[in-house]
Amino acid sequence: MNWQLDEQIANELCENENIENITVKDIEKAILSETDISSFAPDGYFRIDPRDNHRIVYNSKRAKRPHDNKPKEVKPEEKPCVICKGTTTKILDKANLSKGYTFINKNLFPILFPFNHETNPSVNELSIDGAPSKGFHLLQWSSNLHEMDWHNMPVEDCTIVMQRLCQLEKSLLTQSNPEWPSNKDWGDEQDTRGFVSIIKNYGRLVGGSLVHGHQQIAYLNFMGKKSRDDLDFEKRHNTRFSSFMLKNNPADFMIKEYETATLVVPYFMRRPYDMFLLMKDTSKRWLFELNEQEVKDMAQGWQDAIQAILHIMPQIGREPAFNVTVHNGPGAGIYCEFLPYTQEWGGYEHQGVILCQDIPENVTENLKTFFAKNSAI
Ligand SMILES: [Zn+2]
Repeated sequence: MNWQLDEQIANELCENENIENITVKDIEKAILSETDISSFAPDGYFRIDPRDNHRIVYNSKRAKRPHDNKPKEVKPEEKPCVICKGTTTKILDKANLSKGYTFINKNLFPILFPFNHETNPSVNELSIDGAPSKGFHLLQWSSNLHEMDWHNMPVEDCTIVMQRLCQLEKSLLTQSNPEWPSNKDWGDEQDTRGFVSIIKNYGRLVGGSLVHGHQQIAYLNFMGKKSRDDLDFEKRHNTRFSSFMLKNNPADFMIKEYETATLVVPYFMRRPYDMFLLMKDTSKRWLFELNEQEVKDMAQGWQDAIQAILHIMPQIGREPAFNVTVHNGPGAGIYCEFLPYTQEWGGYEHQGVILCQDIPENVTENLKTFFAKNSAI
């Protein structure tokens, strides 16, 4: 199929071409001006599971959003995707690739919305009422070409996609209003405000509702549990988690090394083929602090890990599906987790006993073999 979002339609949807030129306030206005988004606005609060500090954000309307990522036997894949048709929200950033372009727009079914709530809620983990949630939920489409994503785009184009992500993170964190929570409270020397959470879902089994390749960016007025875990690790051990991993993860579990990053299987692999991409300069907290070489290596690392996952999953009888999470913020040293859906989560996992049906030694060998063959081509 040759579906794509036609550039003329994209230009009509484009209300801003470069995210560097707008402030958080501008993005807020742009979101509020689209009534389609406000009709799918979330419920506007989060609650805390007091046992483990997980934040639960509610959007009771989100279940009704369209899905085109269902198996063919359930729904024949015939109608073009909503992104390629251009029946989507206005564009906030657009950058040319060697073929086509990448762009950022607003999520029509957001988990966060710029409500007129207080931005810096005092959060008590035992509060039954929870606290107001506020922010934005944006989407970055890797390419306007339906079939193109990290695994099959030229790595130079992947680097541009990563650069735009870094720039978006910078705009959100450094141009926000003074009433947003300051990260100085969490030990960030820079004047950043709010939190930016970046993920990728690929495949219907792990929450990807649309096939067209994309990343999700949430701008939040509270810190997610995993960022808090990174920060707590640093406080407990007086070292950042990424530093600990770079020093202590067994050398045999290193899969690929780059100038400024390293791709590893963690010694505590929870699911077969979990991988971490660790940036070697662990003093950096935010993507926008990465230099040109680091952005390039991060893009290459994403491409390598995703290619390996998509190659190996069918070989082990699994439908390709994975998540990527970016660990940035007050507790980083920056690292990314690649989490292929190689095994279901069962009752023991919910008890905190994780049963993993392969060992890091085996998967590391398979990954090294894949990369050896791949680089020989
Ligand atoms: Zn599409």
